[in-house]
Amino acid sequence: MSGVQIPQCPLVDVHDIIPKYMCGIFGYIGSKNASEVILEGLKRLEYRGYDSWGIAVVADQIKLNKKVGAIGDLNQLINLPKSNAGIGHTRWATHGGVTQTNAHPHFSSDKSFVLAQNGIVENYQKLKHYLKNKGAKFATETDTEVIVRLIEDKLKDSKDLQEAVRRAFLLLEGRNTIILVTKKGRIIACRNGSPLVVGINGKEIFFSSDTLSFAPYVNRIIVVENGQMITWSGKLQLRDIKSNKDLPYHSEKIDFKNSKVDKEGYDHFMLKEIHESPYVISQVLNQDFKLYEDFIKTLKEAKNVYTVGSGSAGIAASEVAFYLRVFAQVNARSVIGADMYDYYDLLTKDDLIIAPSQSGETADVLEVLEIAKKKGVKVASYVNMPGSTMTRMSDYKFHSHAGPEICVMSTKVFTSQIAWGYLIAKMASGKSKEGRVNLKKLAEEMDKYLNTNTNHEAIRNLAKILAKHKDIFLLGKYQNFNIISEGMVKIIEGSYIHAHGIPAGDLKHYAITLMEKGVPVIAVVSEDLAKDDVINAVNQVKARGATVIGISPAACAVFDHYIPVPDSGETSAIMNIIPLQLLAYYMAVNLGHNVDKPRNIAKSVTVK
Ligand code: GLU
Repeated sequence: MSGVQIPQCPLVDVHDIIPKYMCGIFGYIGSKNASEVILEGLKRLEYRGYDSWGIAVVADQIKLNKKVGAIGDLNQLINLPKSNAGIGHTRWATHGGVTQTNAHPHFSSDKSFVLAQNGIVENYQKLKHYLKNKGAKFATETDTEVIVRLIEDKLKDSKDLQEAVRRAFLLLEGRNTIILVTKKGRIIACRNGSPLVVGINGKEIFFSSDTLSFAPYVNRIIVVENGQMITWSGKLQLRDIKSNKDLPYHSEKIDFKNSKVDKEGYDHFMLKEIHESPYVISQVLNQDFKLYEDFIKTLKEAKNVYTVGSGSAGIAASEVAFYLRVFAQVNARSVIGADMYDYYDLLTKDDLIIAPSQSGETADVLEVLEIAKKKGVKVASYVNMPGSTMTRMSDYKFHSHAGPEICVMSTKVFTSQIAWGYLIAKMASGKSKEGRVNLKKLAEEMDKYLNTNTNHEAIRNLAKILAKHKDIFLLGKYQNFNIISEGMVKIIEGSYIHAHGIPAGDLKHYAITLMEKGVPVIAVVSEDLAKDDVINAVNQVKARGATVIGISPAACAVFDHYIPVPDSGETSAIMNIIPLQLLAYYMAVNLGHNVDKPRNIAKSVTVK
């Protein structure tokens, strides 16, 4: 008998809900063929981790198929029998190499259940040591297998699997979510840190790390909270893990039907998603504006308004702040999620944070919101993914309804976020109707622009030229400064070529030293109060031999290449991002890169 004591670990505080580790878990019970439903679900979860994956289904016994690598095409062979229940996992390895053996799900010794995990069992070594001393055998290097063996250990005391899972889960340190299916088709899932949502469509039940993965098939969701266990064996049951008491559950209605994951004839999701930009703007307009009344009041009365985001959403947040300052005279400032520390002491209950986010799960921003909430700051979020952690933390919850954005590079959701920022600014200035009319017109112009072949041809040709360069500069000011910043991000993400966005007015202070013959400079010039300043900067780079690419409604003699865009007045910036997104797309294609999954980056950064 071992003298090793199992540490008793309290569950993570219910307020401590920031997910730290990625990967996707999925489960399905219903009349469709489980392996196909799970495979499609995993495909949609692939942004969370894609080094290996596995699916287990319940037939006469549990059948398992695990593979190393990305999931690839939906129609690949998975060699699993027809079944009405199963679970799947797409892994982002933390413990144990990327091998088929270490891929999830993991079998119990008697093959009566299989289990998948999202997270890290921080005390896995202690637990492993304890279990080994009791004779447990381990087949993998993962921390996950410790959970399986621990459940088996608990089953020695209680024959009730649910109780054994509950007791084992209470001993896990770290942020973890687990799902298991038994050979009888029973599903048990526990959450403590990583997201877990359940989707319902009549008798079909889906379990997943996010709503998007099952969105087209369900009409209601249950967001499982930290410290809760949800089981299905003929019916759903929600339970508090610590007290072992049943909980009433509330399912929320969701409307996320327009979310088919299909390239629909486009070569890449990125191109398809750019083409959906006019649609996402129409979705900004297609909202219940009564829900905004209280928010707009708070926005106007707030002492300080911070717009907070990360990556492209951070740049969108900056444009939202720009619109609030210019159109609504709201003193808004933007801060990227990871850099909010210096404002923490300044936050008060009279302040408002506005957070645009695609996933609603970005760790950097969740941390800001958590601290802000403790200080009584009001929070408004604009999120694309229903049921997200960020939405649940918000006082004002808005959704972009842009449909799934599969390409890791954000395009249509960025466009939606800035269009929404423009609209709330117009609402706050009492010119809501004018804002809506302008956005409607913009969506029409954008649609025409995107469906004009010559526009694509011009950008494709330019992409070919720029793909040969090592450095690309962008110039912009006023409404277009954030647009050139986002253009810079897109070029870096798609082409892995160094790009640098220069505030046009600041050029002369430093970046002008970099201007020499043939250096490409993209200038975004609108018919606004900054036009003369930007043209002035363009003349300065031109005088030093730069090759100037102008994105503008009006041709200008100093442009070496001209990409015409319609003059969209107050909403010009929203229009101008489109040619820059297309440019990044065609550069990525030209360079033969994995367009929808650029190297080293993940779509939703749920780690710090
Ligand atoms: N820690 C587990 C592993 O390395 C799960 C990682 C994940 O969340 O994908 O296998």
